[in-house]
Amino acid sequence: MAPGAAMVQGAAAAYCGRFAPSPTGPLHAGSLVAALASWLDARAHNGRWLVRIEDVDTPRCVPGATALILHQLAACGMVPDEAPVYQSSRSALYQTALDSLVANRLAYPCGCSRKDIEDAWAAQGHARQRHGELRYPGTCRDGLHGRAARAWRLHTAEHGAITWQDRRLGPQQQNVNHETGDFVLKRADGLWAYQLAVVVDDAAQGITHVVRGEDLADNTPRQILLQRALALPEPVYLHTPLVRGANGEKLSKQNQAQALDLSQPVAALRAAGQMLGVQADAATVPDWLTCACRQWRERYTQAQ
Ligand code: GLU
Repeated sequence: MAPGAAMVQGAAAAYCGRFAPSPTGPLHAGSLVAALASWLDARAHNGRWLVRIEDVDTPRCVPGATALILHQLAACGMVPDEAPVYQSSRSALYQTALDSLVANRLAYPCGCSRKDIEDAWAAQGHARQRHGELRYPGTCRDGLHGRAARAWRLHTAEHGAITWQDRRLGPQQQNVNHETGDFVLKRADGLWAYQLAVVVDDAAQGITHVVRGEDLADNTPRQILLQRALALPEPVYLHTPLVRGANGEKLSKQNQAQALDLSQPVAALRAAGQMLGVQADAATVPDWLTCACRQWRERYTQAQ
């Protein structure tokens, strides 16, 4: 049975989807694909669609970006069913989740800096990695060794491979312990890590279906592990194709992707729809969305 199926069938949980942008800049052609797919999937299931502003990483947030994103979504006909929630105001929820993990010995404080982690791997004969996320070697799993706590990590050692069924990518699996090791829940700078915040919020908001960009697919097993550790329901996942620039790289705010051109919302929707295999032909935003929703329903809701 697909993860989340028990929840969806057994408790007949009403479909609830979300788009969860980080306000680090305006929407671009790539983020519109994820927004549109999550909206179409919710509407095709006659479900609710929420927007959550993922502004936990405050230093990366850009003033005015949230208002711009909501305006861009509205121009493309996508208005959330409830007022957006802001992660920056939900620290108490994340702290409660961390406290419960600590009480169950599933999370622990870590005193390692990045250099400590690099040194630990170098001491075992591994080449130094200058960029990217380093797998945590588990140094503080059995105590801080007299150092001050910097971050908090999830204990991943006891688990085998996490398997799940992505609605577009098919069967997936990852051994989190081998891939990332005990990952960070609360960062050394005191900010909440994306993994914890997203899992707590998806559950608190009753999200049954997560539809988001494929660049986040490899985060899913960490999130499933956390859902299990916190005894939370597992949503169903669909990861959408990434839009690539002329250089083949994924479009992102980091590589200066152009903000959406709002003078032509139908053209922007048409381009996003093409990435999703939806080819609606209509002159206005509402007509385009209605037509696209019909196609999406045929494509993505029949076999479920
Ligand atoms: N905030 C994340 C981003 O903008 C998306 C998180 C998610 O959809 O789970 O990339």
